[in-house]
Amino acid sequence: MSPPDSSSSQRAANRARVVRALRERGAQSRRELTEIGLSRSTVKSVVEELIDAGIITEFADSRAARGTGRPPTLVGLKGDLGVAVGVEIANGVVRAAVCDTAQELLAHDSVPTDDHTPPQATLKTVGTLIDQLLDRAGLSRREVIGVGISVPGPIQRRTGLNGRATTLKPWVNVNAHVAAAEVLRMPLLVDNDANFGALAELTWGAARGLRDVAYVYTAAGIGVGFILNGALYAGANGTAGELGHTTIDENGEVCECGGRGCLNTLANADSISQKLWRSYGDRLSIADVIKMAQLGDVGCRRVIADAGRHIGLAAANMYNLLDPELIILGGNLAPAGDLLLGPLRESMARRAIHAGEVLPPFVVGELNEHVVVVLGAAAAVLRDAGAFPLPNQRNTESTTVRARRP
Ligand SMILES: [Zn+2]
Repeated sequence: MSPPDSSSSQRAANRARVVRALRERGAQSRRELTEIGLSRSTVKSVVEELIDAGIITEFADSRAARGTGRPPTLVGLKGDLGVAVGVEIANGVVRAAVCDTAQELLAHDSVPTDDHTPPQATLKTVGTLIDQLLDRAGLSRREVIGVGISVPGPIQRRTGLNGRATTLKPWVNVNAHVAAAEVLRMPLLVDNDANFGALAELTWGAARGLRDVAYVYTAAGIGVGFILNGALYAGANGTAGELGHTTIDENGEVCECGGRGCLNTLANADSISQKLWRSYGDRLSIADVIKMAQLGDVGCRRVIADAGRHIGLAAANMYNLLDPELIILGGNLAPAGDLLLGPLRESMARRAIHAGEVLPPFVVGELNEHVVVVLGAAAAVLRDAGAFPLPNQRNTESTTVRARRP
């Protein structure tokens, strides 16, 4: 801990540290804030200064158990310091959400799209949607801290290009960051859907307060967002978590990545629906399959259970390698609940190393598939104080802004 220092530059630096911690972790108690390396007395005086300056506010901790006396007081950023926009570019749809600095969702909506649309045209649709949402929330682009944009599949770290395994073919070999910056002309970051989903569950959902979590996101493909040691883990080249392209059947069908028998060929939404074409024709969506399974349709229950067993096999391998404390299921298979998770857990338990411990819980995420990725994309901006200074601090903090990777 540093000794108390009354110099004004030290005080400004301490205020910036507290604001940064509140952006990264959300509301905290004063005691929790000492974990950033400030003494209790420094935290106390910095918090008072920030309250007086109208930057943070106090409120009761709603996370505290009821009936255990007075809930502890938290401090958090006020909501009127700026907004972050989250965008999801997915198969068949673009979604967007606007969140304020108090981590409140102000507005969200979606627009259907065609998967063959070129990136430039899709990004123009995104720009229009963002402006509509800002307008609805009574805001303008001036209040936007930054935009987090999700594209499906891995983004190569070194080149910034979308890999060939992405399920949106016009985006293969496109640098989504460069393309989006050209069209939107706002500060932004780009990542994949599973990573943002993990961040959303860490910020608002089932992973709050945890340090080692795997978030299995099921969309056109199956990907995992890893929170390891409390931070998002993307791998050396940005391709960590491609669970959908792990081999389940080495004699299986050829996957769009060029591999054979990947999990995606056995358990993604399309491959589940296709198994029912003989009974129900080829217009069956995964939502239809889940609804019919819940109503007791034997064929629908069977294909969902089969998918669960395949995902359980892949999840057992993942668990044996990384030992997460919680595994969360999100995306379009999550509404199947125990119809999928029952066979999945059974399959996983047969293959996972227990080491005398019980397996980690495998649960459905708390955030639904329509908002989880856009919320996570907004959270990524809200949490990154270095790259996305608050609008009214852009001038004073500009020296701390580090360059974003392309
Ligand atoms: Zn594959």
